[in-house]
Amino acid sequence: MVQAQKALLQWYTIYGRHQLPWRNTTDIYHIYLSEIMLQQTQVTRVKEEYYPRFLQKFPTIKALSLASEEEVLALWSGLGYYSRARNLYKTAKLSSHQFPTDYKELLQLPGIGQYTASAICSFGYNQNIAVVDTNIARVIKRFFALTEPKNSIIWDKATELLNSKNPRSHNLALMDLGSIICLPKNPQCTICPLLNNCQGSKNPESYTQTKKKEYEKMELFYAVLIRNNHIALTSSTGTMYKNMLQLPTVDPIEELFITKFKHSYTKYRLTVNLYKVEEVIDDIIWIDLDKLNQSPISSLTKKALALTII
Ligand code: SF4
Repeated sequence: MVQAQKALLQWYTIYGRHQLPWRNTTDIYHIYLSEIMLQQTQVTRVKEEYYPRFLQKFPTIKALSLASEEEVLALWSGLGYYSRARNLYKTAKLSSHQFPTDYKELLQLPGIGQYTASAICSFGYNQNIAVVDTNIARVIKRFFALTEPKNSIIWDKATELLNSKNPRSHNLALMDLGSIICLPKNPQCTICPLLNNCQGSKNPESYTQTKKKEYEKMELFYAVLIRNNHIALTSSTGTMYKNMLQLPTVDPIEELFITKFKHSYTKYRLTVNLYKVEEVIDDIIWIDLDKLNQSPISSLTKKALALTII
């Protein structure tokens, strides 16, 4: 085990993604924010767009706690999975004076599960704790040749492999190894620092066969109503875009049809139909078309508006 830990750290020193901004800060709020944004979102998008923009507006957890939820959602607009933003905001309100350092206390905060709590403890506080995200889970399953293990077994094995002398770098190294070398398809075993100790290197893909994702199809019908350079939007109460502004719903009437488009959101594959109407039944808020970018609207609504407001 010691040999594998050593080889991993040597590899990380040379090939690790040390330039990522959240790896070059000790500010726990910045580290926490990056972890929330990185769930379900590509590193490049977070690094280049959302992380710097968010920190420019809310540089401290205190600043975030004093904002309105609408402002936070507006800044999150386009990033998807908006429950992340709502939980981030709730956590900021609860922890603006003192962010917990204890794993169990972190788990009590909204939106913080086993992964995020351990990532904060490891990357933020360098505590001796294993971290398991999708990439690390793949490495662990292959390294220990685990066939369809329970989650708890993966965490136990990650703890067994953990380098207690440098847990932070060890976890970051495993994460990078999973995203650069131990890829889901065609893992690069011949150049992997763990090759000599990896029990699954003869047939790595057999330990990480992925189940086909199941998607839910849904058809949506929205009204487009514009008056005096203002558009009618409504606050979503459904689980999909809760508290975000969206187009009002409408019963489909063929003569009023404008266009339709496809959109993917989490597990949903949506067909969105748009209708030009003169009135709607939902409670509406009139939003100035020139101020749309300051409003909490989703990518779906942005797409719909781009197709109808020309
Ligand atoms: S040797 Fe291959 S399967 Fe094992 S950890 Fe490295 S890349 Fe993954």
